[in-house]
This record gives sequence, C-alpha cells and structure tokens, in this order.
Amino acid sequence: MRLVIKGGRIIDPRNGLDTVGDLLVEDGVIAWCGQHLPDAMALDGDVVFDASGLIVAPGLIDMHVHLREPGFEYKETIESGGRAAAAGGFTAVVPMPNTNPATDNRAMVEFVARRARETSPVRVWPTVAATRGNENELMSEIADAKEAGAVAVTDDAFPLQSAELTRRVMEYCATFDLPLLTHCEDKTMTRGGVMNEGLVSTLMGLKGMPRAAEEIQVARNIRLAELTGCRLHILHISTARSIELVREAKRRGVSVTCETCPQYFTLTDESALGYDTMVKCSPPVRTAEDVDAVRAGLADGTIDAIATDHAPHAAHEKECEFQAAAFGMVGLETALGLVLTRLVHAGVIGLADAIRKMTVAPASILGIPGGHLSVQSPADITIIDPDERWTVDPEAFQSRARNTPFAGWELRGRAVATIVGGQIVHGDLVRAPRGRVRA
Ligand SMILES: [Zn+2]
Repeated sequence: MRLVIKGGRIIDPRNGLDTVGDLLVEDGVIAWCGQHLPDAMALDGDVVFDASGLIVAPGLIDMHVHLREPGFEYKETIESGGRAAAAGGFTAVVPMPNTNPATDNRAMVEFVARRARETSPVRVWPTVAATRGNENELMSEIADAKEAGAVAVTDDAFPLQSAELTRRVMEYCATFDLPLLTHCEDKTMTRGGVMNEGLVSTLMGLKGMPRAAEEIQVARNIRLAELTGCRLHILHISTARSIELVREAKRRGVSVTCETCPQYFTLTDESALGYDTMVKCSPPVRTAEDVDAVRAGLADGTIDAIATDHAPHAAHEKECEFQAAAFGMVGLETALGLVLTRLVHAGVIGLADAIRKMTVAPASILGIPGGHLSVQSPADITIIDPDERWTVDPEAFQSRARNTPFAGWELRGRAVATIVGGQIVHGDLVRAPRGRVRA
C-alpha cells in the first residue's frame, strides 16, 4: 500500500525541515518527504490523507516508561502499554527493567523484545538493570544484555547508592558503549518520604524528600562520568539545582544529558494539598521555583529530552492514604497534550524544539534508529493537530491504568494518527478532524 500524506506542515528537526509539503510512504518506508509530490509520482490507488492544518512529525519516542511485564500484568502489559503509546502519538518506547523477575540478563531482554514483537503496536527498545535483581549489589550481565538488544543500562526505581558500584557500572557502560540512565536519589535522605520536603509537606504533616537528595546524586554521577568516560543520562530531572549542575557540567564538556517529564513543568507540591495520591511520584513534584527552572532548562537546551516515566498502577494502589499509595502516574496518553499546552502554546519553547526533545534527542542519546523523516528510513510518523481541544478522560485510556492527576484537564493539541513502519496503529484517518482520505 502507498500512503500519501498531503499538505501538512512537516517538521523534522534532524534534517532541519519545517515546510508545508507532502510525504509518501511505500512498503513501510518513507519514499518522499518535503515539497509537493510531483503529480507524475502519484498513482491510482494511492491512499491520500489531506493533512492541511496538521503537523507531520517523526514518530515520537518515549525513552522512559514502565510496561510492568513480566510480573505486574495487572497494572499494564507490553500490549496495553504499547496501545497507550500509540494513542499518545508514540511510535517507540523504552521500558525500564524493574519488572519481576528483573530485566537483568540476556534471557529477560530477549523476553521483553519477543513479547513486544508479538503484541505491541509500537517499537519497544529494552533496557537492562544496572544490578542483578535491582539489588544494588552485583552488576548485571551488561555485555550479554547488549547482545540481546538492550539499548541502555539503568538503575531507575532502584538508584545505585554506592559510588564504588556506580563507578564499576559506568566503566562497563563505557567499555560496551551503552549509556547509563540514572535515577538520582540518595535513599538515606528520602527514607519514608512521600512528597517534596518543604513548607507544603510541613503543613500537610507528611515526611518530605529533600531536593538535596536528588542534587547530591546528580553531582556525584556527573563526577563519576568524568572519571570513567561513561555517557551519563539523568532520568526525570526535577530541581533547579540539579539543572544548574547539568548546565555547568555540559559547559565543561562532560558527556551528560538529561530528561524531564510533564509533571515537573506542570505541577508543584501544592498540587498535593488535597492529599491527592495521583500527584504522588518519585522524584516528587517540587516548588514553583523548580518548575520555572525546568522550563528555563528546556528552553536553553540544558534539558535534552522529554519523557513520561509512564508508571501505571491498579486502582487499589492509589485509592488509599497518601503515605501508603504507590509512587507514579501514567503519562503516555497525556504527554503530547501537556507539552503542547504548557510549553508550546505557552511560549516556553517552539514547536520544532518540542518535537526535537520527543524524537531525535532520545534517539541520539540512546543510539537507536528513528526520530527523523529521512527518505528510505522506516515510516514512523506522528500526525498532530496542534489546536484540537480535548479533556483528559482516564476512562478512555488505552492503558490498563487510570492513575493520572490530569483527569478533567482541558488540553490543546493531540496526535490524530500514529504510523509505525507504514502501518496506522492509531487514528482513523478517514474521520480525522481536519483530514480526509480518498481512494
Ligand atoms: Zn521510571
């Protein structure tokens, strides 16, 4: 099948493209992208989608999600998470390895990759845990895991506490040319903590997690990356000082990148004032000053990428007292709307920059294919209506989970279609708001 996407605004930051034009998909790859497709190249029987008024972007890549399989299929599966990703405009996701059993060896990486091939509508790039069983003691089989397809090593959810162990993991990462994705948290400072430490946690009578617990590990991991030559990527950065540390390290030429998530440029700890467990996540949402710093870090390029930390939980894990509730929120189906509403329409960053942080930036940090619309590359494409107004309804999620603090929020902008390898995995192009198909 040939699919012609006509007259959309094509934005491809990697190729410096921002133009109204056409895109032709043939046999799963991009056969034409840019100016008006010459009439002589159009064939009878082409499916033509009128994308005027819409954005045609490289398929979005979420470099930080939790798909919960194996071990926690009651929260999410690779299939349901893949459907949620497609619905949110993502064509590829990178699941974290804190499954049960942990994704910490060749067989487990192969399992995740196989389940993804069998069940997920989007691409899934597995990662491997930094330590066996996420136990912070023995290193995982990093070389084996890479051979099996792992694209990164990560300690997400089980942050490496020992500097010595972190150094050894980084040396292996450098040797095998894998990035290390670190969740920065000194657990000795956050034990029992359930939200940001500050005035609001005091008012609410809840134990706080100080910003310093994150910043100390950001500083330490940057220093260890300098020592080892490891490519360091900091997951879900959330504080003003953490961002300043990364900014300063980049200036010195350290190989460090970082990401943030929509909650950290959208919510503050005051969002927890009603003891809403949906707001509870780790790191916790911080203060207005930190939110401003996250926005500034996105604008000046200190923050390279936007991910979701999509963290599905069952209803009973959130419908309980704040202290007992699970950490995390789902994000795949709200991320693009929040980025467009809170960053692009709000004038914090431009549209092309937002797309860069959700496509080519994660692809280049991880060294994975995708993230651009080059001719002859796989047709992974997201078609976006930047102006569609919609209300977040968790009941309509494709995810198995409903834990979002954004229920009822009105957002502006969403994915109207998601195409993976030339296959439409989300969106009804026939009835897309401003598009139409003719045969
Ligand atoms: Zn995570």
